[in-house]
Amino acid sequence: MALIVQKYGGTSMGSVERIEHVANKVASWRARGHQIVVVVSAMSGETDRLLKLAKSIDPRGSEREFDQIAATGEQVTIGLLALALIKAGVPAKSYTGWQVALRTDSAHMKARIASIDSERLLADLAAGIVPVVAGFQGIDETGAVTTLGRGGSDTTGVALAAALKADECQIYTDVDGVYTTDPRVEPKARRLDKITFEEMLEMASLGSKVLQIRSVEFAGKYKVPLRVVSTFVDGPGTLITLEEDSPGGNVEDALISGIAFNRDEAQLTIAGVPDRPGIAAAILGPVGDANIEVDMIVQNVGADGSTDFTFTVHKNDYERASDVVKALAVELGAKGVRTATDIVKVSLVGVGMRSHAGIASKMFKALAVEGINIKMISTSEIKISVVIEDKYLELAVRTLHRAFELDQAKS
Ligand code: ADP
Ligand code: ASP
Ligand code: MG
Repeated sequence: MALIVQKYGGTSMGSVERIEHVANKVASWRARGHQIVVVVSAMSGETDRLLKLAKSIDPRGSEREFDQIAATGEQVTIGLLALALIKAGVPAKSYTGWQVALRTDSAHMKARIASIDSERLLADLAAGIVPVVAGFQGIDETGAVTTLGRGGSDTTGVALAAALKADECQIYTDVDGVYTTDPRVEPKARRLDKITFEEMLEMASLGSKVLQIRSVEFAGKYKVPLRVVSTFVDGPGTLITLEEDSPGGNVEDALISGIAFNRDEAQLTIAGVPDRPGIAAAILGPVGDANIEVDMIVQNVGADGSTDFTFTVHKNDYERASDVVKALAVELGAKGVRTATDIVKVSLVGVGMRSHAGIASKMFKALAVEGINIKMISTSEIKISVVIEDKYLELAVRTLHRAFELDQAKS
């Protein structure tokens, strides 16, 4: 008998029929003698609908109220699934985040989990009841409802699994595992049997939305066995593993495990600022003060003693960032400002990169052959990212997938 936390995503909760299908799956796991705690997302599209509604009143409105509104999506699905379970003969009880004392900090719309009271859930399990907990939401110390950021139900699932010392956290979704890249962009993408936490962390942080990045961080930190599986087809899914569990380092001994991409960034350049010590701080200081997170940064030094300074931010922060940059350009005597929202970041990820030279040049060559111009580059030990025009996204992903032979399993 195992204690398993199962998280079901938006598509899996997308209709009454699907919720009844989930209830039957939970019932069959329980019938095999396992203790199950379920975490659910809102019905697909619901969180978008709720946030759009809120922003139609004031796009820059109170984030406390945005959270109050967005959190209602999960309150509906916990009740629906509990009803469906009871109808299927499984004793079940639904809980909102605050009913299980899922405490977070007060960073609305991106709150971090601080603690969870597992007593009530353990008591339910002991009594043979399946608790159904709302994902994505918590409560801060002032009693305000908070949300954990988009995709945050994954993190609720993993945090509950850690708090309950569960044997496994299963993330049920609309794909049957983690693929070499988003199978919606490259149909030849291949499901990975295993991927290391480190690689999954990079994939998630570089835009693969299959798991929220914080859920991977949490699972790595608390050593929660994490598996991505399909709600709709049976199969082993993908296990996220520790590198030391995988002889030979990379679980598949491949140089590259996957390709991630991010369509949510925008690029800003201040052109022709004086090239002097402190200029990067003079630009990024005010950007940081405006609470805008910067991702990639490139500085080109010109021969005439001036420099072009380029960085990327989330598209949600683009308007505010461009206000800050325009004001700075005047202040610093820059030659001008250029901005672009028609960009994507495409990244190659793999722990095997550590020990191999030549990956970057192979990547750049493959893109060049297709006539894809690279606007920015950034690298770390296990990833290479490039910024390109968004119209080339699919071509770039497919080209790199083929160039690095990701459709072929390594033996
Ligand atoms: P859920 O609503 O179940 O949380 P998400 O939409 O958040 O589902 O995540 C699943 C989606 O992630 C898939 O439908 C797929 O399009 C996308 N995705 C992006 N990158 C990958 C990848 N490398 N492997 C699998 N799915 C991916
Ligand atoms: N419903 C939330 C969202 O759409 C949380 C989640 O699905 O994980 O972002
Ligand atoms: Mg998700």
